[in-house]
Amino acid sequence: MKHIARKRFGQNFLIDTSIIDRIIQSINPQVNNRLVEIGPGLGALTCPLLSVAGTLDVIELDRDIIPLLKKNCADKGDLTIHNQDVLKFDFHSLHRTNEKLRIIGNLPYNISTPIIFHLVKFSSIISDMHFMLQKEVVDRLAASPGNSDYGRLSVMTQYHFNVTPLFLVPPESFEPRPKVNSAIVRLRPHEKPPITVPDEQAFSDLVKQAFSQKRKTLRNTLKNRCSIEQLEAANIKPGQRAEELTLKQFSDLSNILHQP
Ligand code: SAM
Repeated sequence: MKHIARKRFGQNFLIDTSIIDRIIQSINPQVNNRLVEIGPGLGALTCPLLSVAGTLDVIELDRDIIPLLKKNCADKGDLTIHNQDVLKFDFHSLHRTNEKLRIIGNLPYNISTPIIFHLVKFSSIISDMHFMLQKEVVDRLAASPGNSDYGRLSVMTQYHFNVTPLFLVPPESFEPRPKVNSAIVRLRPHEKPPITVPDEQAFSDLVKQAFSQKRKTLRNTLKNRCSIEQLEAANIKPGQRAEELTLKQFSDLSNILHQP
């Protein structure tokens, strides 16, 4: 049985065993971990994870690949396959008391940003996440204010998680080869949040609107949401752009606008 990679599912399979070993070492799986893999594909990461941890839940959309995945991982451990779209998957369904989820995935690059925004909703039941992503996406996740990569994805991810870029992975490590460089990143929920916001949805909406027209000043992008005085009360100059604001300035503004 041979599987032909499907572009629409973002299928670029890992074939470089030294990179696979390095990813597994970075994850450092343990026997009783509650491991969840997104997009197991043919099992490049699934098999070694299963061999160490003994049990693993995977979420895979392509039903045609599942027989091969089962065959490749046979006898490695207890594999539970959820043939579902990860963007609709309820991660609470996998959560058992006291055991937070460790999420792993060589993600389909075409939907990696929506996947991260989806996972942000489950940050309270996540212990850590290790992802292979397009290098540009890792740069955006880790970007600081003032950097051109800094945007809504950076703010919302850094609000929930510590972001640690780990190492680069070249196109030759995959079959078929992607046209872009890749990188592994670790995301770990903050033990103590760097900021607190009473209304997370309002904070998220504010950040979204602020970055909706990146080149414009906040005086313009936020004009139907807040006054110049409210911007200044959060230590923001009305002529600044969203990409210049720290997490703290976003939270101060959100707290001024949405006091409970
Ligand atoms: N883990 C394998 C590896 O490293 O070789 C495959 C990685 S491949 C980049 C992405 C995987 O995600 C594919 O198996 C693909 O079928 C699966 N996938 C794509 N879209 C998905 C979705 N919406 N939900 C769940 N899995 C998806």
